[in-house]
Amino acid sequence: MPAEHRARNCRVVAARIRLGVPRADGRRVGERDRQVHFVALPADKPVPLVLRTLCGDPLAREATDLLDSVAGMPCVRCLASVPPAADAGAP
Ligand SMILES: [Zn+2]
Repeated sequence: MPAEHRARNCRVVAARIRLGVPRADGRRVGERDRQVHFVALPADKPVPLVLRTLCGDPLAREATDLLDSVAGMPCVRCLASVPPAADAGAP
């Protein structure tokens, strides 16, 4: 299933940070951090250096894989946020 849903001015894509890389908050990524998050990207702008997931986690762009499909455990908090974010075209 495609993990990309287009909205008016943004697209929501699946993203997963790579194992062992430093996170934006200073910790290193462990398996518990490797959930598949969802990120709303503005359609008319380049991908930012720090991706803000729908659940509020910062992910460094260069350490994050944008996924074509949801592989692995999806983040429940992100999943709960997908419909309103897609409807509002935000953040
Ligand atoms: Zn999440």
